[in-house]
Amino acid sequence: MFEKSAIRILAIDDDPFMLKLLECMLAQQGYASVSTSDNGKAAIESFASPNQAPDLILLDLNMPEMDGIEFVRHLVERQYSGSLILISGEDERTLQSTEKLVRTYGIPALGHLSKPVNPEDLSLLLEKWTPSSLSVPQMSKTAYGAMEVHAAIANGELVNFYQPKVNIASGKVVGVESLVRWRHPRDGMVYPDQFIGIAEQYGLIDDLTRVVIHEAFAQAKAWQDSGLNLHVAINISMDNLASLEFADYIVAAAAAADIKPEGIVLEVTESLLMKNLSTPLDVLTRLRLKRFSLSIDDFGTGHSSLSQLRDLPFDELKVDRGFVHGAVEDSTLRAIYSASLSLAKQLGMKTVAEGVEDRADWDFLRSTGCDLAQGYFIAKPMPAHEIPGWIAAWEAHIENLIENVFVHSLEM
Ligand code: C2E
Ligand code: MG
Ligand code: MG
Repeated sequence: MFEKSAIRILAIDDDPFMLKLLECMLAQQGYASVSTSDNGKAAIESFASPNQAPDLILLDLNMPEMDGIEFVRHLVERQYSGSLILISGEDERTLQSTEKLVRTYGIPALGHLSKPVNPEDLSLLLEKWTPSSLSVPQMSKTAYGAMEVHAAIANGELVNFYQPKVNIASGKVVGVESLVRWRHPRDGMVYPDQFIGIAEQYGLIDDLTRVVIHEAFAQAKAWQDSGLNLHVAINISMDNLASLEFADYIVAAAAAADIKPEGIVLEVTESLLMKNLSTPLDVLTRLRLKRFSLSIDDFGTGHSSLSQLRDLPFDELKVDRGFVHGAVEDSTLRAIYSASLSLAKQLGMKTVAEGVEDRADWDFLRSTGCDLAQGYFIAKPMPAHEIPGWIAAWEAHIENLIENVFVHSLEM
């Protein structure tokens, strides 16, 4: 633990009364190293070198000379390494988007407070403070080259993990999504964001997808033979759809594995660079005719757009996790989530919510009529052999999950 009195706090507000008030509240809560400033410009000049900067700044957004957002820009220029709490009389949405902006600049924002500031709310945010070096883990990501990714595909180092998808009303497990991992001989487990882009860029994505499909189809057949009835979803890159043969390849692969297209879901995220839509449209429409299910992934992120819904024969919409986790307490997320859901319903599509991370997310979904859920609250992606055991354990506590929610919703 760190001593509260050792945390150097700077409060900035153009209103001297507000500064006095903050100073008193901080003192009462045991924060003794507090300084104040009624002007952002003067404040920024007071810490010219990084070690003169405070550990935490309480910042008013509306100040006449330099507003809070300009102030944040100056902090970035000076490589400020402390945290920030925003304070303002502005509405909640303005505060929320400013907080997001601060985070995109890489400054840890502990949260925001509306005026008049309430001492309990202030105290809760202050408790979130940790030294920045601890709060921002420096995860170094290795950049892999095309040769390495090529070798990984050729040497069989890619392996599919599977994440369960469950029916929200019944709790039943209906399928899994295949998510590729690279078991790197030196670096351990490598996640797709570190090699899918490279595979796409260097023309390796067709080979990669074929490896993934081959393994997923064989797995689907094995589950089917053991009496497990699971849909298997596979992520397809838009680049895979640039060649007309792709549809024939999938049809042939399913036949060779002896599985039915009805049990396979193909998830597609539109890439912004896709210029020629006629080939993907041709491929996807043919796959749909052959009874494969088509799912639009990451809906709402801008990669998946409304025009895709108009042009392509999707039958499932996956609401991006950015609009699911925390939607219950954020009205903006909730609005986007509900709009996506109602759009899908009107178009007769099944809906899947991604990124269900906690009980609050789950309970919220249960009140919205979304069909399927996927996320860490249910299960993380796992190797295929763990799926049957996981399903047994999940089914043993489904009743409890659904019953509790039922009681819960009656109380509301
Ligand atoms: P996606 O298809 O949207 O997959 C969902 C991602 O969210 C997965 O990340 C999954 O592990 C993660 N996730 C699941 N539940 C939660 C949750 O509750 N909270 C949070 N924060 N995350 C959750 P992963 O496995 O790292 O995959 C990232 C993306 O890489 C996938 O996004 C997909 O677009 C792509 N990808 C994965 N496998 C393949 C593949 O075989 N082929 C292609 N082309 N792309 C793939
Ligand atoms: Mg997906
Ligand atoms: Mg997604």
